[in-house]
Amino acid sequence: MHPRAKRKQEEKELAKEHVRELFMQADEVFSQRPDLAHRYVCLARATQMKYKLRMPREYKRKYCKHCYHYIRSGVNGRVRIRDGVLTLYCDHCKRFTRVPFKR
Ligand SMILES: [Zn+2]
Repeated sequence: MHPRAKRKQEEKELAKEHVRELFMQADEVFSQRPDLAHRYVCLARATQMKYKLRMPREYKRKYCKHCYHYIRSGVNGRVRIRDGVLTLYCDHCKRFTRVPFKR
C-alpha cells in the first residue's frame, strides 16, 4: 500500500475509535449533563463527516438524526420497535428517526 494511503487508513481507524469513545462518554454523562451528551454526539458526527465514516448501526438508535440530541427512552424521547424498525421519537425537535434492523 502507498505510504500516504496507509496513513489515511490509520487516521480513519483512530477516528472510528474516537467516535466510539464519544458515544461511550455521551452515555456516561447523559443523566447528569444531557447538554454535554448532545455535544459529544455533534462531535462524533463531525468526526465521521471529516473522515467519511459510516455511522455504526448500534449508535444510530442512540441519538436524533435531525438535531443530534442523545436520546434515552422515557427521559427525552421514546423508542419503539415494530416490524423490524426501531423508531426514535425526539422530545427536542418532535421528529422521528427510523432505524431498520434485522431480527
Ligand atoms: Zn431531535
